[in-house]
Amino acid sequence: MNEIIDILRDKLIPSEIVELLKEYYPTQEELDNYAIDHFVCPNCYNRLMSKSWYEPSEYFGMQVTEEVVSLECESCGYTVD
Ligand SMILES: [Zn+2]
Repeated sequence: MNEIIDILRDKLIPSEIVELLKEYYPTQEELDNYAIDHFVCPNCYNRLMSKSWYEPSEYFGMQVTEEVVSLECESCGYTVD
């Protein structure tokens, strides 16, 4: 399967590959993982935008701020934590 992806990668953009893989990938989860790894929305194939912000957190009893990163599709609202 990875060899096929390598061949496709030369010719297609990630969202096109995701659409093609949809026909062949054994599970939805694997397809979703591939799509997310390549910043493609598994829902509508638009580009996922990376968003990050800081949230207060606790680290060994100390107050710290923790960077939280998530991916969001601006087209359909799909989010990845
Ligand atoms: Zn989407």
